[in-house]
Amino acid sequence: MKEAQTDTLENPRKEYYRGEYPEQHQEAPGIEGKMDPVPDTGEKSYRGYGRLKGRKALITGGDSGIGRAVAIACSREGADIAVNYLDVEQPDANSLKKLIEEENGKIALVPGDVSREENCREIVRQALERLGGLDILVLNAGTQTAVKSIEDLPTEQLVHTFATNVFSMYWIVKEALPRLPAGAAIITTASIEAFQPNPFLLDYAATKSAIVGFTRALSKQLAKKGIRVNAVAPGPVWTALQVTGGQFPENIPSFGKDTPLGRAGQPAELAPVYVFLASGEASYITGQIVGVTGGELL
Ligand code: NAD
Ligand code: MG
Repeated sequence: MKEAQTDTLENPRKEYYRGEYPEQHQEAPGIEGKMDPVPDTGEKSYRGYGRLKGRKALITGGDSGIGRAVAIACSREGADIAVNYLDVEQPDANSLKKLIEEENGKIALVPGDVSREENCREIVRQALERLGGLDILVLNAGTQTAVKSIEDLPTEQLVHTFATNVFSMYWIVKEALPRLPAGAAIITTASIEAFQPNPFLLDYAATKSAIVGFTRALSKQLAKKGIRVNAVAPGPVWTALQVTGGQFPENIPSFGKDTPLGRAGQPAELAPVYVFLASGEASYITGQIVGVTGGELL
């Protein structure tokens, strides 16, 4: 692993982990620290340049995976961060808090289940209070459970996937909007699944299509306020989501191998895109879906 992502010229096919992944399973949402290998969230490599100095960011699902990489990156770019996650993920949240505080960053932990409206409103209120405002929302919490046939897809799962992945975005934005200043940025996490849906992710893929629609419509509604809204659409990224039922276990070893770049992505490779979309450098970019997919076309 190189010191910083930008230090040297590298072949992207040969960077990061590209071996087979050991077959493994945890109960959702899983603990990232127990994964083999532990996903690379940029703890060693992400270098900040003050792009988000003085900014205040709420990141949902920020204890692990893509959200954790975004949290580390936002903090190193100078933002104060509030990080949401589920209570059972406290070990991952604690290790993130320790890392950020060792680097003199400001982090507020705001656990809570975003599949319920009242929790979403409370998470936003706490983030506003503890950071003294908000101007970046990273709506990233998500759940994914592969099911072979629509006949076996429980209604409970269907409703839970939509509430967590989609409805939470409406509830969080509704509560935060009165306090978001001009210049604020909202970034959602969509997926390649919105464009090339997997037949076993019938509910999940549909939530990701819904997020694309939500992001595009909201960007038009909020443009007049000077608030930009964009989505990142990841391809296969090595995270807890995949080993907690997001993939069938037999598909774990070759996870990501069928992308043009020939390997799965690591969360660290997503974070710079969120930072860019949040920063003033993206001042003319809104309503867009940015793919970070290892070459799969949106
Ligand atoms: P992850 O498991 O590390 O992160 C997902 C997080 O969502 C969890 O850490 C958890 O804190 C949070 N979450 C789940 N249910 C929640 C709930 N009810 N309330 C509050 N928080 C909840 O996995 P990840 O892959 O980093 O996932 C982040 C986002 O990226 C998700 O929206 C996921 O759909 C999306 N995504 C992931 C991939 C991939 O291949 N890993 C690909 C495309 C999109
Ligand atoms: Mg987690």
